[in-house]
Amino acid sequence: QFPFGRRLPCDIYWHGVSFHDKNIFSGQVNKFPGMMETVRKITLSRAMRTMQDLFPLEYNFYPRSWILPEELPLFMAEVRMMKDNNPSWKPTFIVKPDGGCQGDGIYLIKDPNDIRLTGSIQIRPAVVQEYICKPLLVDKLKFDIRLYVLLKSLEPLEIYIAKDGLSRFCTEPYQEPTLKNLHQVFMHLTNYSLNIHSGNFIHSDSVNTGSKRTFSSILCRLSSRGADVKKLWSDIISLVIKTIIALTPELKVYYQSDIPAGKPGPTCFQILGFDILLMKNLKPVLLEVNANPSMRIEHEQELSPGVFENVPSPVDEKVKVAVIRDTLRLMDPQKKKRKDTHLEDVRTNQSAKGRLRCITSLRKETNHSLEWGCWATPQTCTVEQAVEASEEPPATAPSPEAALPSLCLKQVFPKYAKHFSYLRLVDRVAALFIRFLGVKGTTKLGPTGFRTFIRNCKLSNSNFSMAAVDILYIDITRRWNSMGIDHKESGMCLQAFVEAFFCLAQKKYKSLPLHEQVASLIELCECRLAALHGKRLVCGCG
Ligand code: ADP
Repeated sequence: QFPFGRRLPCDIYWHGVSFHDKNIFSGQVNKFPGMMETVRKITLSRAMRTMQDLFPLEYNFYPRSWILPEELPLFMAEVRMMKDNNPSWKPTFIVKPDGGCQGDGIYLIKDPNDIRLTGSIQIRPAVVQEYICKPLLVDKLKFDIRLYVLLKSLEPLEIYIAKDGLSRFCTEPYQEPTLKNLHQVFMHLTNYSLNIHSGNFIHSDSVNTGSKRTFSSILCRLSSRGADVKKLWSDIISLVIKTIIALTPELKVYYQSDIPAGKPGPTCFQILGFDILLMKNLKPVLLEVNANPSMRIEHEQELSPGVFENVPSPVDEKVKVAVIRDTLRLMDPQKKKRKDTHLEDVRTNQSAKGRLRCITSLRKETNHSLEWGCWATPQTCTVEQAVEASEEPPATAPSPEAALPSLCLKQVFPKYAKHFSYLRLVDRVAALFIRFLGVKGTTKLGPTGFRTFIRNCKLSNSNFSMAAVDILYIDITRRWNSMGIDHKESGMCLQAFVEAFFCLAQKKYKSLPLHEQVASLIELCECRLAALHGKRLVCGCG
């Protein structure tokens, strides 16, 4: 540990909270710059909304959400309209303060007028979200799932999911929300930090009882009831990949700002905590993404009144130790060296044909359906054994790895890339944005950058003059900056650029659905920029 900084470079930096260190020029850091900002409740909701606008069906795993205070009138109006259309609809909403965690400040409402105002008119920034009223219950209790996801690399995108996670239980039997029970946090909120204070909380020493269990124990239970656990896993994998696809554009903007391309810098990886709720019909719903999931493997126990002691928590230990161990195994710089040496040996010893076969077998791309091996078969009551059995043999000759248990982290991207690549439209919009940012180290686009983008992509014409371009820039930028997200820099943020881009796409390709309008404009821009680049190269050569 280097609480006061360090002098020598390291090959892996394990930071406690955030990237926050611009003086690292090599190695790997366990945090991405900007991750904390990107997964905050408001930012996540905005990113999901953009994806829901483009691909409503694919992103219906995130509850309908509104951002407060600016969308309060919209929220009121939409609820009123939905109630008018369907008078039997009796919704419940959950209000979550932005930047809050551990259930802090969260409350449920039935009537939009019950949103709490702090002070006279000021509302604390928050997200108000449709409350999932019919969650899946186990032992009559609501629970959620914490899954660990390793974002191993942003470019190219590499995602791993841990094969086991935690299930965190409420401590009061669940009832659908009524005005009488709305305030009962032990019934509606699954946070460990809240439920631990309930008299009903059970610290268990086995993985399948008590208030915190392994997710695999829940799967066993479900599969013994005949549930399609394989489909559930496939839906969870989709949810994780789609969520990360929604987050990557913003992350790339932060990344180029902190670690400019072409300059020496570290690479990043990060363990994320995905909080997922299962609906009664087994559909997974994303609640939130945690940039700093707790890795504690102990809990406090009150030995006698007022006397506390840290005692091991076997459920946490089983899941979390494996996640950290295997993250380090995947990121291990020595392993990469060993693999490179092994490949080098192979190369020198094989004919061209044999070499190809060997490298392919190292990658071992299996089929492309979102399957979880024999993990989810109904008879696998000892899911763990099934996982162990389903693991591939080590790809290289005996190594120090051989003595370790099989990896608990499973690669899902690029493995399933072909199912999801069509969703990566905003990523391509972000690439255009980054291209025109100009000065390295910024995250916002100035008016000149925006004009250059329009000019180089030849988007202005007699119907859309450069004066109209300036007005579009000013209007959208001013509105986004007035929402008070980031006052550090002036200019157009990525989300504002995305909005302007969608606006241009709608103008140009009127009759198409939004995602086709956006895809068409991206292609046009990419083509025109490639042509311009080609011309410049030719001129340069000439
Ligand atoms: P925090 O970061 O404060 O834990 P969460 O978004 O995870 O905030 O919400 C806290 C808890 O509230 C969740 O663990 C879950 O039990 C419950 N919850 C959150 N959103 C919803 C929702 N849309 N529907 C039902 N329950 C929810």
